[in-house]
Amino acid sequence: MHILITGAAGFIGSNLTEHFLRKDWHVTALDNLSTGHRRNIEQVLTGLPPEQRDHLTFVEGDIRDLDTCQRCAEGQDYVLHQAALGSVPRSIERPLDSHQSNVDGFLNLQIACRDQNVRRFVFASSSSVYGDHPVLPKVEDNIGEVLSPYALTKKMNELQARTFQKVYGLEYIGLRYFNVFGRRQDPEGAYAAVIPRWIMEFMRGVTPTINGDGETSRDFCYIDNVIQANERAMLTDNPEAVNTIYNIAAGGRTTLNQLYKLLAEAMSEQRNGFAPPEPVYGPLRPGDILHSFADI
Ligand code: NAD
Repeated sequence: MHILITGAAGFIGSNLTEHFLRKDWHVTALDNLSTGHRRNIEQVLTGLPPEQRDHLTFVEGDIRDLDTCQRCAEGQDYVLHQAALGSVPRSIERPLDSHQSNVDGFLNLQIACRDQNVRRFVFASSSSVYGDHPVLPKVEDNIGEVLSPYALTKKMNELQARTFQKVYGLEYIGLRYFNVFGRRQDPEGAYAAVIPRWIMEFMRGVTPTINGDGETSRDFCYIDNVIQANERAMLTDNPEAVNTIYNIAAGGRTTLNQLYKLLAEAMSEQRNGFAPPEPVYGPLRPGDILHSFADI
């Protein structure tokens, strides 16, 4: 099998790349290294035997360029589209950047998949599309008004996928990831996710900040669930399973206060003499949803 994985130098994309190379698949890995890192690809390759390493083609390129998408989609059986600019605050600060990578780039890839007769287009959506919908747990068909430019880009992706399926017959499955965590998730930078950021801050002796009163909650989902979801979405031959959107989550709720305590305890077990600091509480971030908890 030949697959194209976009965003392959990022957190989720590099884990997918590793998984499918280990299964002896041929992987074309496309990334512009804007938020991802070449070292993630190098780390993936280091752990593999030479014959599996040879199955990787890394392309440093941008999904905002249609020719690049066409070239990368040629000869692929499936596309796992992960490339996007993540983060709600980033999208509020730079909405055009988010739109260009997440929406224009998405459209380029869909066009490439259509032209190159790719069998199925599996893509990363986000729990942010639930926006202000108040009901928990979140069920796929009930979404509210989006609360950020980032969420809007993901909602547009879902609509674009549906439209391409209806107009051109391009099969798709959209995966609405909740808060994913795991190996190679970037702890650095202003837009880092909470789990790697807090672990890094504990290690550096920096006191973490909780946005809000700590009672906002998230459905934290381990990376291996996301890998499994992508594999199933790509390979299912059940016609009723395709051309739809799925929540990808653990189906549980953890408040930020609980998460802080769990990480502090885990860190204390790992490091002799570690004394967890009391967290600092800051304002809620604009655009963030209060609670997310998936019906899986
Ligand atoms: P990440 O930032 O680690 O990975 C994204 C990758 O896409 C990066 O390597 C980046 O360099 C690449 N990229 C960005 N714009 C590009 C462009 N124009 N052309 C080519 N490559 C580009 O983020 P991640 O956490 O691995 O997220 C992967 C996908 O999952 C994204 O679509 C994200 O919106 C979605 N998602 C993630 C989470 C999560 O909790 N991590 C939750 C919901 C949705």
